[in-house]
Amino acid sequence: MYGLYVHIPFCLKKCFYCSFKTTVLFSGDSGQKSNKDEKVKEYLKAVKKELGKYRGEVLGSIYIGGGTPTILSSFQLENLFKFFSNNFLFKKKIEITVEANPGTLNKQKLKSLKEGGVNRLSIGLQSLDDRLLKRIGRIHTGKQFLDNFYLAREIGFDNINVDLIFALPGQKMSDWEKTLKKIINIKPEHISLYSLSIEQGTRMYADLKSGRIKPCNEDIEADMYEYAIKILTENGYQHYEISNFAFPHKSSKHNQLYWENKQYLGVGAGAVSFLGGTRLTNVGDIDEYIRKVNTDKLCMVKEKLTGEKAIAEKIILGLRMRKGIKVDKQIEKKFTGPIEELILKGLLERNEKNIRLTYKGLLLANQVFIEFL
Ligand code: SF4
Repeated sequence: MYGLYVHIPFCLKKCFYCSFKTTVLFSGDSGQKSNKDEKVKEYLKAVKKELGKYRGEVLGSIYIGGGTPTILSSFQLENLFKFFSNNFLFKKKIEITVEANPGTLNKQKLKSLKEGGVNRLSIGLQSLDDRLLKRIGRIHTGKQFLDNFYLAREIGFDNINVDLIFALPGQKMSDWEKTLKKIINIKPEHISLYSLSIEQGTRMYADLKSGRIKPCNEDIEADMYEYAIKILTENGYQHYEISNFAFPHKSSKHNQLYWENKQYLGVGAGAVSFLGGTRLTNVGDIDEYIRKVNTDKLCMVKEKLTGEKAIAEKIILGLRMRKGIKVDKQIEKKFTGPIEELILKGLLERNEKNIRLTYKGLLLANQVFIEFL
C-alpha cells in the first residue's frame, strides 16, 4: 500500500518568496500567446502516463500538491479523479487531499473536488492581512480566503487545513496574533505554520539584498512561534509536528508517511518517491518531464540511503513529530554520543523509549538536526 503524491507545477503568479519550480500560466489577455490550455493538457497527459506504471496498486492516501492544483479546470480535476478510481484500488477511509489557493476556487470547482472524492482541503492562506499578502505577492485577499472557506464548509468539506507563514518582513507580533485569533475563530481542523525562509533566486531575496525589505528580527520570530503553540494548544489543537497542529484524529495521514519514513510514490515534474530505502526524484523541468515521459525515457535520479545516512534521515524526520522517535538498536549504536549531548544541552528529552525535542529544542530544531548529519 502506498501514499501517492501528484505534483501540479502551475501557478497564476509567482509569489515573491517562492523558490519552487513552477510555471506561471497566462490566458493571453495581455497580447502574449496563452500557454494555459496546451501546456496543462500536455502535462496532465504525461502525468497519467507516468501514473500508469503503478496501475493496480492499493492507495492509502492521495495528495495533489503544487504549485496550485486548483488552477486546473473542474473538468480537468474530475478527469484526474476518474483516472485514479479507474486505475487504483483505494483503502477504506483513504485520505484524499488537494492543495487549493484562494483566488482559484469557486462553487463549481469545490463541488467537483467533493464529488471526485476529495475529503481534505489544504488552503494556502499565509496571512489574513491584505497589506502583508500584497507585500509577499499573493494573488488573493483575506476576504477571498474567508469566502472560499465558508463555501467549502457549505459544500461539505469537514477536514480543512490552513497554511500560514510568519516572520514576514514588516509583520508585527500584533499582526500575527490577529491572523491566528481569526483563524482559530473559524475552526479549521488543521493548521500548518512555517516561518518565512528567504531563498536565493526569489524576488524577496533580491529585495533583501538591495535593502528594499528587512528580515524579521529572530527574537520576534521565536516569539511568534511560541505564541502560536500556546494559543493553538489552548484552543484544542494538538501540536503533532514541528509546524503542524490538528484537532484530535485530524492530523495529515499522508504527510505522516514522510515523517515516519514510510514508502510513497511521487508523480509529476520534480516529484519524489521513496521506495525500499531508495529516494527517486523526477526531472524538475516541466518540458523535459513531458518529453521524457512521452518518449518512455523518464528516469529518476536514484539515491539509495544506507548506513549512517539512512539512520540520520530517519532520526531527523522522526524528531519532527512531537511524539519523537523510538531509540532502536541501530540508533543506539550509531548516535548515543550526540543524543546524550543534546539531552545535556536541554534540546532533547527521553520519553519512555522515545527521544523527542524539548520546548527549547523545537525553537532550535535545525541545530539539533545538524548534530545527526
Ligand atoms: S502559489 Fe505556492 S507554488 Fe505558486 S508561486 Fe505561490 S508559493 Fe509558489
